[in-house]
Amino acid sequence: MFHGIWLEKHNDEFQASLREFESVEELGDGDTVVNVEWSSLNYKDALALTDRGAVIRKFPVVPGIDLAGTVESSASSEWQPGDRVLITGLGYGEARSGGYSQKARVSSNDLVPLPANVTTQQVMALGTAGFTAMVSLKRIEEAGIQPAHGPVLVTGAAGGVGSVAVALLANLGYSVSAVTGRPSEGERLRQLGAQQILPRNDFSVPGKPLAKEEWAAAIDTVGSHTLSNVLASTRYGGLVAACGLAQGLDLPTSVAPFILRGVTLAGIESVHFPITKRPAIWQRMVDLIDPSTLSLVAAQSIPLDRVIDTAHELLAGSVSGRLVVSLA
Ligand code: NDP
Repeated sequence: MFHGIWLEKHNDEFQASLREFESVEELGDGDTVVNVEWSSLNYKDALALTDRGAVIRKFPVVPGIDLAGTVESSASSEWQPGDRVLITGLGYGEARSGGYSQKARVSSNDLVPLPANVTTQQVMALGTAGFTAMVSLKRIEEAGIQPAHGPVLVTGAAGGVGSVAVALLANLGYSVSAVTGRPSEGERLRQLGAQQILPRNDFSVPGKPLAKEEWAAAIDTVGSHTLSNVLASTRYGGLVAACGLAQGLDLPTSVAPFILRGVTLAGIESVHFPITKRPAIWQRMVDLIDPSTLSLVAAQSIPLDRVIDTAHELLAGSVSGRLVVSLA
């Protein structure tokens, strides 16, 4: 017997509940069983748990897009009982059962070995949000943008992706400007390495097609008018990594930043990011973030029976940084 969260929909009636499972067979297909120790609560999980955003593509299902734990058994010779592993994205917690249960039935092809020198709890402090921040940072580096080229802007900075992005950029020597709607988060963002805190309202309302050139690059987790204003204030030749939609799915912009300043808008999608490239990215991310920074990124851990209520708080914007979920 083990516990997990179960999402059901019958005749458009949605139900999220904590339940007991008798067998991993109830979790669907998979050649590997993982004893899940930690998961995390992402924006997408919060949407799934509250039946918003059409995140769940197959009911009934265990939600939770991230998980970390220990292999219990595997039909693959690549994985042995006791191996410490993690999974982010790849349809877990959306199209197949994911991380919010004490056991997960997964495909061995989707497993990433736990990076060295990190615990399953610490790796879930990063989770999908951290991985997305790291993939965004990688795009900035691949464009040849270095710390000497100017400040980098992070929007939605007090959220999960934003907090990790601030820490990673600062640790690499970039001067980070952090946009937040919560002035009370300013001190934590400074501790994570932000040099400048900017109010959300400066970005979230309709702006001009072009504004003063400020940012060598940006990581935008917000979309809508915010992304439009970020593009308008990005320096000549800069890059904006767009990974989120916390303000909205729309993008009311013009071609001006692209054709007059050569700005690149880079789309970031971390869910289906190639599995072969994941271990190196995880290891680099873990190497860049020390444990004290991690505790600033994810100050809170919650038990499974708090996850559904906390999802509502996250969508209401009252959660700061990352939330890790204990499956113990
Ligand atoms: P969080 O809820 O932790 O953070 C979102 C942050 O956005 C909030 O903390 C807040 O930051 C800001 N925000 C919220 N509402 C608004 C608003 N109306 N206007 C402006 N800013 C707002 O979410 P995550 O960090 O987990 O995810 C951030 C985004 O990235 C989400 O849209 C998510 O779907 C997306 N995402 C995309 C992935 C991909 O592969 N592309 C993967 C993971 C996430 P503050 O309080 O500082 O203003």
